[in-house]
Amino acid sequence: LRRNPGELEFHQAVREVFDSLGRVLDKHPQYVQASILERICEPERQIIFRVPWVDDDGRVRINRGFRVQFNSVLGPYKGGLRFHPTVLLGTVKFLGFEQVFKNALTGMPIGGGKGGSDFDPKGRSEGEIMRFCQSFMTEAYRHIGEYTDVPAGDIGVGAREIGYLFGQYKRITNRYESGVLTGKGVTWGGSLVRTEATGYGAVYFTEHMLATRGRSFDGARVLVSGSGNVAVHAIEKVHALGGRVVGASDSSGAIHDPEGIDLELLRDVKERRRERISVYADERGGRARFLPGASVWDIESDERIDVALPCATQNEISEAQAAGLVASGVVAVAEGANMPTTPGAIRVLRDAGVLFAPGKAANAGGVATSALEMQQNASRDSWGFEHTEERLSEIMAGIHERTAATADEYGVPGDYVVGANIAGFTRVADAMLALGVI
Ligand code: NDP
Repeated sequence: LRRNPGELEFHQAVREVFDSLGRVLDKHPQYVQASILERICEPERQIIFRVPWVDDDGRVRINRGFRVQFNSVLGPYKGGLRFHPTVLLGTVKFLGFEQVFKNALTGMPIGGGKGGSDFDPKGRSEGEIMRFCQSFMTEAYRHIGEYTDVPAGDIGVGAREIGYLFGQYKRITNRYESGVLTGKGVTWGGSLVRTEATGYGAVYFTEHMLATRGRSFDGARVLVSGSGNVAVHAIEKVHALGGRVVGASDSSGAIHDPEGIDLELLRDVKERRRERISVYADERGGRARFLPGASVWDIESDERIDVALPCATQNEISEAQAAGLVASGVVAVAEGANMPTTPGAIRVLRDAGVLFAPGKAANAGGVATSALEMQQNASRDSWGFEHTEERLSEIMAGIHERTAATADEYGVPGDYVVGANIAGFTRVADAMLALGVI
């Protein structure tokens, strides 16, 4: 705590992992001997830089850029870039720390890192976004590379921003190094299914959890927070599996649509027109209501809710909101976002016997498909949609299996938090032991 003052989210993420590790350390004293815990929460490298850019009025603006290269014992650092005004070093460190264990859990050869900026893309023109991305990459390019560090998208960074970042990298280095970034457009080195992967993957993971209780998405009533990349694709997959998503949100408020969200309209409003979510309710012909400033977890209704998929941001479900979900009959909660459930809320859900999937297991489909994108780039190949989705589905089944089996092995069957933390930790810790004191 003294070494990382004020980094509350980072402390929260570290505490959550360490709380699960007592059983492992008892069984494997070699981890203590080699100071693995001390080493694993110290990033290998942290880069902070100035990002100057010129707005449409000719004024010079300054933002702060970050890249935290957390752990590379399993492969090149891998993790997204977040552009959001709330981004601080502690935010990037919490995300990077989570990423290390998530990436290990996929079983693929990728280390963990994360980056971003306190730049706010909202209300910025295309030209401003492009100039910002170019300036960000003008510094970032010297720290990344196919074999070093491979960034991707996260909040505020989608295919458009990855395009501008990749264009600048290519220009500066004079190399068409496809494997330096993932989340690229499919016509220029991207992988099919990458865009859908995190949302789809979270739903696949939830399907496996529900099956342990003889349940499925068929006929399930579902709440999803957010309406960005992860949320939209989670909604799409839930609908494909016969469930009905009755609420979604953005940072301006929530929508409640008891008949089930019209995904085409939502995508038109949020992705194509880049409007606020209230426009969805305005155009839904009286079937949906907008709750200004509210979270989707505040929707009051007599309806049963079977599944909750938080897909917006960290610490979005409070203890009281978790109690509300329990009262409405929720059976499973799976984190599409990173750390959206507060520690108090997790306690409430676990005490009530709700199936709970932490983000490092449930949302690992995105980074796993990024690793598939890297494989395609390395072999100069591109796979079809069905084949890639099949791979994603197998990977999510594998993560579920590994997480559940680890929870069983350590005497806490059905505890996906402990299962995911231990399975991820042991893979990284064993590689750290093998590679010596580095
Ligand atoms: P997007 O930027 O596409 O969407 C984020 C959504 O969450 C938007 O609807 C946004 O609302 C809302 N949101 C963001 N911040 C807040 C906030 N402070 N309060 C309320 N709502 C907020 O991001 P993604 O969908 O890519 O990411 C969502 C989550 O999933 C993040 O936690 C991310 O780390 C995690 N994740 C993403 C992966 C990916 O592949 N993209 C992979 C693994 C995890 P608004 O439109 O108003 O900003």
